[in-house]
Amino acid sequence: MIGAAVGDRAAGWDLAGAIPLEVLRGLGAEGLLCAEVPAEFGGRGMSGRQNGELTAHTGALCSSLRSVMTSQGMAAWTIQRFGTRQQRSEELTRLTRGQLAAVAFSEPQAGSDLSAISTTITDDGDSVVVRGHKVWSTAAAYADLVLVFGRYRDGAAAVLVPTRTPGVTVRPVAQPLGCRAAGHADVILDDVRLPAARVLAGTSQPLGLLTTIALSYGRMSVAWGCVGIIRSCLRAAVAHARSREQFGKPLAQHQLIARHISELVVAEQSATRLCEHAADCWDARSPELTGASVLAKHACAGHAAQAAATAVQVLASAGSVDGEPVARAYRDAKLMQIIEGSDEICQLILAEQALERER
Ligand code: FAD
Repeated sequence: MIGAAVGDRAAGWDLAGAIPLEVLRGLGAEGLLCAEVPAEFGGRGMSGRQNGELTAHTGALCSSLRSVMTSQGMAAWTIQRFGTRQQRSEELTRLTRGQLAAVAFSEPQAGSDLSAISTTITDDGDSVVVRGHKVWSTAAAYADLVLVFGRYRDGAAAVLVPTRTPGVTVRPVAQPLGCRAAGHADVILDDVRLPAARVLAGTSQPLGLLTTIALSYGRMSVAWGCVGIIRSCLRAAVAHARSREQFGKPLAQHQLIARHISELVVAEQSATRLCEHAADCWDARSPELTGASVLAKHACAGHAAQAAATAVQVLASAGSVDGEPVARAYRDAKLMQIIEGSDEICQLILAEQALERER
C-alpha cells in the first residue's frame, strides 16, 4: 500500500519540497500513518515490531513520508497516554480517518533544552488561551492539528490546536537540508483561544514526563526510519557494485568495495537488532523503553549517516546527483542525528543512565 502510494515519486517530492496532500490523507485514512493505534479507534493495532517494520519500509522509500508518519504516530501515542477516554475516542478516530497531526516542542530558545519552553496555556473560564512560537514542527505545513507543548498551571500540558483556529500562523521552513518534503514549519500561536477540553487530560503534568513519553515513540520511529535508510543504501550499493565495471571487473570484486558492502551489512543488522529490542520493550510496556529508544535512535542515526556516506562513495559520480536515492539518503540521514534529541543529548542520557545503573 505504501509502496504503491510512493511508487517512483519520492525523488520528485523531495525536489518539489512537498508530498501531495491527497497521498497523505489517503494513507492516513487507511490508518497507516499511526498504525499502532488500536482497532477500537479505527487503527491497525500493530505491535511495536510490525509498526517498526512498516516504518522502516517507508523510510527506505521516502524519509519525508516517514517523518510525517513519525509525527502522526507521536501525536497519536501522546493522546493515547494522556488523553481522557473521550479525547482518545474523538481525536484518535480523526487521525485514523485522514486528518494529519504535527507535534510542537521546540522554540527559538528551547531546542535541546526543553525545560526552557516558554509557550503558555492559560485558563480563561471554559477556554484556554495559547501563546507562543514553535519552530521546526515536522508535518505542520500539512497538519489539521498541532499538538502543542506548553506551560500550564503549576506544570505543563499538551494541547490539541486545530491549525484553522484564529491566531494560528503556520510558516514553512524554507529549503531544509533534508527530508525536504516533510512539511517542516514554524507555528506561531497568537492568543489562540480554544475550549479547555482540548488540553490533554484537562490537567497539568510534569514537563519532563510529558516530553519523555512523547519522545520515546518519536525516537523509536526515527530509529526504524534509519533502518530503512540503511536498507535502501545497502540495496543501491550492492546493485551498483555488481553492475559497474572498472579495471576489467565488477566493483564488487575489488576488495575495498567489498569492505564497504560488509560495513553496510553490519550497519543494517546492528540497527535492526537495536530497534527490535526497543519494539519489544514497547510491546511489554517495559520501563526499559526510555533507555532502549534513546539507544536505538542514537546508534541507528549514526549507522544511517555512515551508511549513506558509504553508499555515495560506492556509487561515486552516479550517486552524486540530486534525485539519486543515495544522495537523498545522505542529506536525510544527517538530520536524524539532530532530531528527537541530538547525538550529544542522547549521549548525555545514556551516560547518566549508566552512571545510575552501575552505582
Ligand atoms: P541546540 O539545542 O542549539 O544545540 C546545538 C548543538 O549543541 C547541538 O549539536 C547539540 O547537540 C549541542 N548541545 C546542546 N546542549 C548541549 C549539552 N548540554 N551538551 C552537549 N552538547 C549540547 N521540533 C519539534 O518540536 N517538533 C518536530 O517535529 C521537529 N522536527 C524537526 C525536524 C528536523 C529535520 C529538524 C532539523 C529539527 C526538528 N525539530 C522539531 C527541532 C529539533 O528537535 C531540534 O533541532 C533539536 O532538539 C536540537 O535543537 P537545536 O536545533 O535548537 O540545537
